[in-house]
Amino acid sequence: VTDHLVYIFLRDPETQKFNLTWPSTCRDPRIQTYVTHLTERSKYILTDEGKIGLFPLVGEKSILGCVVAHSNTDKLSQKEIDYIEQLAKQSSITIHRANAYAEILKYATSDALTGLNNRRQFEERLKQEVSNAKRQKHPLCAIMLDIDFFKKFNDTYGHVAGDIVLKSVSNCIKASIREYDIASRYGGEEFVILLPTTEINDAYNVAERLRQKVESTKVDIPNENGEIEHTLSVTISLGVYQYKDTDSPEELYQNADKGLYVSKERGRNQVTINDGSLP
Ligand code: GH3
Ligand code: MG
Ligand code: MG
Repeated sequence: VTDHLVYIFLRDPETQKFNLTWPSTCRDPRIQTYVTHLTERSKYILTDEGKIGLFPLVGEKSILGCVVAHSNTDKLSQKEIDYIEQLAKQSSITIHRANAYAEILKYATSDALTGLNNRRQFEERLKQEVSNAKRQKHPLCAIMLDIDFFKKFNDTYGHVAGDIVLKSVSNCIKASIREYDIASRYGGEEFVILLPTTEINDAYNVAERLRQKVESTKVDIPNENGEIEHTLSVTISLGVYQYKDTDSPEELYQNADKGLYVSKERGRNQVTINDGSLP
């Protein structure tokens, strides 16, 4: 489309605004106004005596943006119109797919390495479980845990070995909890488990069993040929806390984390209950 300037606008699904995506500027202010007239049912719009053409990019249900061809002197020929129309249709499919994929990524709820809930999902579930516990007047506990001297594994055996350790610990967690417990990777080598309808003593037992399981699970680190090169022993420190009605959702795991901190202080590889009295 040699005699026309071409612009691409994409619509922000949140604000519904058409944003100029390419190139970086558009000197003709009329174009910004024209694009807002497009809907998902529009064919293309020719305006300014055929010198400006607006071609919608349409997804499954909504308008995704548009392609604009603009000239001060020349009308768009029918051949050019047909060409841009085809181009817009094909681009629409690609843009729609890319948007759908971005959506999936954004809302992915699990951590890629361990398959546990990711931090974002944890925060979602935390709110839900706290409100369930309040409404149904059920107990709710949290276990916070952290791998002991994890940095050492990375520094001595490399990041790949560190990742194998993370997977091993998360497998121990999965094997130690009930179906309706919620285990999440909170940070690098920190995990949090929510235990609905569970009193502190039962939560302590879960934590202690998990501690023992991790301690007794040997972690094999293979070399490039798949042969076992190292066998590592890993331990974890844990803190446990039972939700009180006056706590915020954050206080549930923050108080468990205070227990975890005491476990670290006292020499690691142990469980500490925070009854609410820890500073
Ligand atoms: P402590 O017993 O006090 O917890 O000691 P630590 O060494 O475990 O604690 P520290 O916080 O010093 O180290 C955590 C390390 O975890 C730092 C970082 O290099 C590593 N790490 C965080 N995320 C990942 C990950 O996804 N993969 C790997 N391989 N390492 C990670
Ligand atoms: Mg840590
Ligand atoms: Mg650690």
